[in-house]
Amino acid sequence: MPVTRQWLLAGHPKGCPVEESHFRQATVEVRGPDEGEMLLATRYLGFDPAQKGWMENIADYVAPMAIGDVMRGSAISEVMVSRRPGFAPGDLVLGTTGWTEWHISDGAGLERIETTLPPTAMLSILGTTGMTAWCGLFKRGQPVAGDTVLISGAAGATGSVVGQLARIAGCRAIGIAGGAEKCRWLVEEAGFDAAIDYKAGNLSGQIGALCPGGVDVVFDNVGGGVLDAMLGNIATGARVVICGGISRNETGGLPVGPRNYFNLVFRRASMSGFIVLDWASEFPEIRTRLERLIQAGRLSYREDIEHGFENAPSTLMRLFAGKNRGKQLLKL
Ligand code: NAP
Repeated sequence: MPVTRQWLLAGHPKGCPVEESHFRQATVEVRGPDEGEMLLATRYLGFDPAQKGWMENIADYVAPMAIGDVMRGSAISEVMVSRRPGFAPGDLVLGTTGWTEWHISDGAGLERIETTLPPTAMLSILGTTGMTAWCGLFKRGQPVAGDTVLISGAAGATGSVVGQLARIAGCRAIGIAGGAEKCRWLVEEAGFDAAIDYKAGNLSGQIGALCPGGVDVVFDNVGGGVLDAMLGNIATGARVVICGGISRNETGGLPVGPRNYFNLVFRRASMSGFIVLDWASEFPEIRTRLERLIQAGRLSYREDIEHGFENAPSTLMRLFAGKNRGKQLLKL
């Protein structure tokens, strides 16, 4: 039976950015699968900024993590040995199986990968990323054709899909991202109507210049000062969707509340957060719709693939340094 490397939680990154020291590598033996179980080899890990919140134990929609736990994360695994009816060697499955090279499973929480797209799509556009973009935009943002939709973290995995879906819905999509290269990609490759480099300064003024009539739907992945600038530019009746708050990593603690929140009153606007898992029963249908849009050439997605299990911690940290181009994955 194989020996497996695992990345364990070695510290809760509270009040500080995620660092290598928050992880510890361990090597353990993997037993053979019992009747009803499978031996699985992890092929790809998927990364999400939310993993920092899980490590900190600030997110109460998931179980707390203890020091010594295998680092939680989504993964695609291949069935190597199966003593479970319905699963055969070579099958690919998706699940939150964590940062381990090999693992034993009775199939609970695992989903068989069946898609016409490359299997990694199940960690990106057909996984939580695509579901988050779809549900956050359509269920919370409720865009109407002609609306201006403003997205922060727009060149990221989720944001880039939100902008494209907004365009498909007949809206004007404007993205906020860090740096000229990402902004160029948003307009020239992802089809956004315009992009704003928040690192160039005067974010509020840049939004105002591009959206003189105000923003109808805000899709925020960043929080902090970026959210504040967006709130200062909302249109009457705007819907502000809080998806994530990655800028929190800068200070480690909780951000200061938005100074412009009272604009919600002046503009008769609403602001709401969501957890995408609440719509899990609808994922198969949304997945089919996204798959069709991709096959029709109307929607594209990007994956950024690092290599080597030993690089899992540094791959997670790429998200907080803005190094990822699309959904961050790691190939084992
Ligand atoms: P992502 O956007 O692909 O990656 C993170 C990006 O955030 C970076 O590339 C970087 O882009 C930007 N960023 C990092 N630090 C920043 C800072 N201090 N200020 C401004 N921007 C910063 O990640 P993702 O997987 O698509 O996730 C996007 C958000 O959705 C995350 O906040 C995640 O937690 C959230 N999410 C929410 C749900 C839900 O149910 N509510 C579900 C899944 C994900 P720049 O170079 O442009 O700065």
